[in-house]
Amino acid sequence: MSYLNVKQLNKSYGPTQIFQQIDFTANEGEFVTLLGPSGCGKSTLLRCLAGLTSVDDGEIILQGQDIVPLTPQKRAIGMVFQSYALFPNMTVEGNVAFGLKMQKHTAAEIRQRVGEVLALVELNEYARRYPHQLSGGQCQRVALARSLVTRPRLLLLDEPLSALDARIRRHLRDQIRRIQQELNLTTIFVTHDQEEALTLSDRIVLMNRGKIVQQGNAETLYTQP
Ligand code: ADP
Ligand code: ADP
Repeated sequence: MSYLNVKQLNKSYGPTQIFQQIDFTANEGEFVTLLGPSGCGKSTLLRCLAGLTSVDDGEIILQGQDIVPLTPQKRAIGMVFQSYALFPNMTVEGNVAFGLKMQKHTAAEIRQRVGEVLALVELNEYARRYPHQLSGGQCQRVALARSLVTRPRLLLLDEPLSALDARIRRHLRDQIRRIQQELNLTTIFVTHDQEEALTLSDRIVLMNRGKIVQQGNAETLYTQP
């Protein structure tokens, strides 16, 4: 049984089918990339995994449990968006601590865990700054820290590099991979960029027009007939 097992997932908005019969798995600690053209349904699929939008039918089995009926909080899944989605009126520290405060951890525990994840993304010196005082790459590292601090069972990354310029993109790409491996964190990464997919992933799931069309690793995917 895989760590994550997505089975026959369907989603429509009104009469419009967004994706159909989505089946894929991820092993514990695996980095899986959903690769496909803009508009093929990748983002919607991630939002369904996170519980931010509902599915029509199908199952999402995480660690042996179907999480479809669970609220986003109960799913314990971390998500990072292309647009960072930080709280503009909170410091870096405040943004990262937010999820832990909601979970009512003690002040000492929060301080320690926020310090740990800020170290992980190399942003300790920026703890007291506000998002508008940071670069795009730094904002995305805050968003990553914020998603990691609650120790999610699964990390979802929705085109986290797309808004960044090429040099920063490479740096953050390498940082994401290092952290993911260090934490042995099962990760689903969404992108339309083939090079990102090929350099980052343990496995690639190719999507087109709401369907999975192929799966494999970087070596096999483009050599199969
Ligand atoms: P991708 O992430 O691959 O670019 P999306 O999941 O964002 O694709 O979008 C897939 C399709 O679903 C698009 O045609 C988009 O317009 C449509 N779509 C996305 N969200 C909604 C929504 N909330 N309501 C209706 N249509 C939507
Ligand atoms: P759910 O999928 O749980 O019903 P959503 O927030 O995804 O919740 O969407 C609620 C409704 O709002 C959808 O049924 C859709 O018709 C509409 N909607 C939301 N976002 C978009 C969008 N980007 N384009 C078109 N319609 C949208």
